[in-house]
Amino acid sequence: MTSDEAKTDVPAIELVDICKSFGVVEVLKGVSATVARGETVCLIGASGSGKSTLLRCVNLLSPPTSGTIRLHGQTITDPKVDLNAVRSRTGMVFQHFNLFQHKSAVDNIALALRRVRRMSREEARERALQQLDKVGLRALASARPSHLSGGQQQRVAIARSLAMEPDIMLFDEATSALDPELVKGVLDVMRDLATASGMTMMVVTHEMNFAREVADRVLFVDSGVIAEEGPARQLLTDPRTPRLKSFLSQVL
Ligand code: ADP
Ligand code: MG
Repeated sequence: MTSDEAKTDVPAIELVDICKSFGVVEVLKGVSATVARGETVCLIGASGSGKSTLLRCVNLLSPPTSGTIRLHGQTITDPKVDLNAVRSRTGMVFQHFNLFQHKSAVDNIALALRRVRRMSREEARERALQQLDKVGLRALASARPSHLSGGQQQRVAIARSLAMEPDIMLFDEATSALDPELVKGVLDVMRDLATASGMTMMVVTHEMNFAREVADRVLFVDSGVIAEEGPARQLLTDPRTPRLKSFLSQVL
């Protein structure tokens, strides 16, 4: 970390006028937002509004067509940036966990550490077990994904991401594919990460209770723009725009 990054007033994430088109279809139409270090920001909005596209811009999984992104002061939309370095600092968890089915929980994590971090077998295994412990799954370290519930698999995926020691975590509907009774365990891990660990998080979610209780701020994405933003409780209980009122009346 450079002395610039150590300054707490430098936002963890700065999005400046982000536009993203696929062919002639403009999906993001000038999104600007900042996320402070240690802050948890939830993105809510209707399906197709551009939430996933925005999240995928933040780690350049799908780079913006125009606009500037800075992570801890570093401009990552600069063509000279090292993409792998950016991605290894930014963890991402998806709706579908994409674990290797033929590998145990601990091996799924250790494999990533050996490949990306070039750790020895022993070192990677030890780190992987520590991460499984943090998501409450150490006892299931040897289990293959097919022997784990969807919620447990998602917690392994989160542990795998955290093992890389990212300083920003992005969650894209991490609980949307889970049976209702499995959602809580995953949200608890995310809540703990946001509160106890002070991780900087951008969370796309339909879990309004999670947003209300855990998010510092909520951004309402509507047709490729941030139509409304504010402190979680205020925005969710006292929406200003008709669009957000209508959206909340459908999901709450
Ligand atoms: P959300 O996550 O809010 O549901 P998305 O960001 O996934 O919305 O999608 C926003 C819009 O962008 C949708 O109309 C979708 O069809 C379009 N889109 C997303 N990804 C692509 C892509 N790779 N190619 C073409 N269109 C895309
Ligand atoms: Mg999406």
